[in-house]
Amino acid sequence: CGIVGYIGTEDAKEILLRGLEKLEYRGYDSAGIAVANEQGVHVFKEKGRIAALRDVVDLNVAATVGIGHTRWATHGVPSRVNAHPHQSETARFTLVHNGVIENYEQLKSEFLSNVEMTSDTDTEVIVHLIDRFVNDGKSVEEAFSHTLTLLKGSYALALLDKLNTDVVYVGKSKSPLLIGVGEGVNVIASDAMAMLQVTNQFLEIMDQEIVLVSKDNVTIKKLDGTVVTREPYTAELDA
Ligand code: GLU
Repeated sequence: CGIVGYIGTEDAKEILLRGLEKLEYRGYDSAGIAVANEQGVHVFKEKGRIAALRDVVDLNVAATVGIGHTRWATHGVPSRVNAHPHQSETARFTLVHNGVIENYEQLKSEFLSNVEMTSDTDTEVIVHLIDRFVNDGKSVEEAFSHTLTLLKGSYALALLDKLNTDVVYVGKSKSPLLIGVGEGVNVIASDAMAMLQVTNQFLEIMDQEIVLVSKDNVTIKKLDGTVVTREPYTAELDA
């Protein structure tokens, strides 16, 4: 299981698919990507190999930002519906998640009793919570951080907002996640190997941090909003 993300100027879907292929060694049962452009957010997902996902990706969708996921099912059978990305009811928010949310049932009954779930995953509550808190008046960043304070378990997350595709929101706790830093391009990966195709400069992300990743900037913050400064390291690996 693994996560990738891309925001830059090149075709995101090919870079995401190649990144997911590099993560195949980690094991998975399904995979998916979401890419965003002026027409909206386009989600492609499939049970099985990355080759099967490639077959369902519409090559005509051009986009320079996106997120991708390989799933190792923990809650809900391996299937196309349970594959990530998952979306909020209006499809404003699109999310990928690695890990396990231990308190997803409590969160569902406390905050989301009126929400119709489309999958059997623990993950889906996260994207509905973010949507809920945005509808309650929080900014997307506040809603994202607030949601993370409620989660028990492990997660590496990447979130797209259809209304602002200049930024990908990232967060982690107890699941691996790195940001790759380039010139006019930044990437997200569970393992540097997935994104050596773009850069060999990586930033480590610590538990209980969020990251706002745009084409030209990477801003790391604690959940209380304090900005964190950190220098990238050079990944000494063969792509
Ligand atoms: N718990 C989530 C699911 O079953 C994510 C699994 C993963 O880490 O791939 O969908």
